[in-house]
Amino acid sequence: MNRIRLNALDEYFLRDHLALNITKRCNQKCIFCFEGDRKGWDELSVEKISDFVQEAVKKGIRNLIFMGAEALLRKDIFDIINVVKELGIKRVGAFTNGQILSREGFIEQIANSGLDYLDISFHYADAETFARCTRTPEKLFYNFIKGLERLDEFNKKNNGKIGVITKTLLFSQNQGQLDLILRLISRLFKYSEIICGIKRIQLTEFPPDIYLLDNLKERRKEIKSLHFGDKNIFLPVCLYV
Ligand code: SF4
Repeated sequence: MNRIRLNALDEYFLRDHLALNITKRCNQKCIFCFEGDRKGWDELSVEKISDFVQEAVKKGIRNLIFMGAEALLRKDIFDIINVVKELGIKRVGAFTNGQILSREGFIEQIANSGLDYLDISFHYADAETFARCTRTPEKLFYNFIKGLERLDEFNKKNNGKIGVITKTLLFSQNQGQLDLILRLISRLFKYSEIICGIKRIQLTEFPPDIYLLDNLKERRKEIKSLHFGDKNIFLPVCLYV
């Protein structure tokens, strides 16, 4: 199994990195969301994305992550990934809530298109909390889990081809679940290279530019104390600093 190195932060987030918003559509309605499912927002065409990325590559950008609301809902996502890879982007990722990963053949298709990693929202450890946080039916929690199982199974067969980042926001509705969430992540990803990001937010104080940053030293201690053995190395990072 792959292990994450401490300098992976640089590789994933900091060097030559571009985040590109390609849709405002989403299949969840998270209570903390300031992006999801906005009507009347034109999506960038593949041609426009191509023009934009071409310019970015000229300026030295080599890492790109697709944002959205739910970036993977774009029907032409496979073409989009393909195009940016051909333009010279070395490492391509996508933010996702994970729902679409349960779809038969989807993971294979994004991998074949050239996707290198997924940045997965992971704010819940049970169906009830999931439904409360995402304002969607509880049964979709099991769909989420199924998608992640498929992803790890794919990585088992393909030598960890798709890197995995999990991103956990802690707020009043999932209070006290950090331990459970991390244990679930640990159970689900046995064959994937993984980074685990955690951030505490206060929903009463939106807009989100006042996100509270965790004390990373303290957080590291907390995570080490969970004793995952040598199965995965979890590195707490703050993704939106
Ligand atoms: S999954 Fe992401 S984009 Fe969709 S509603 Fe939730 S936070 Fe917003």
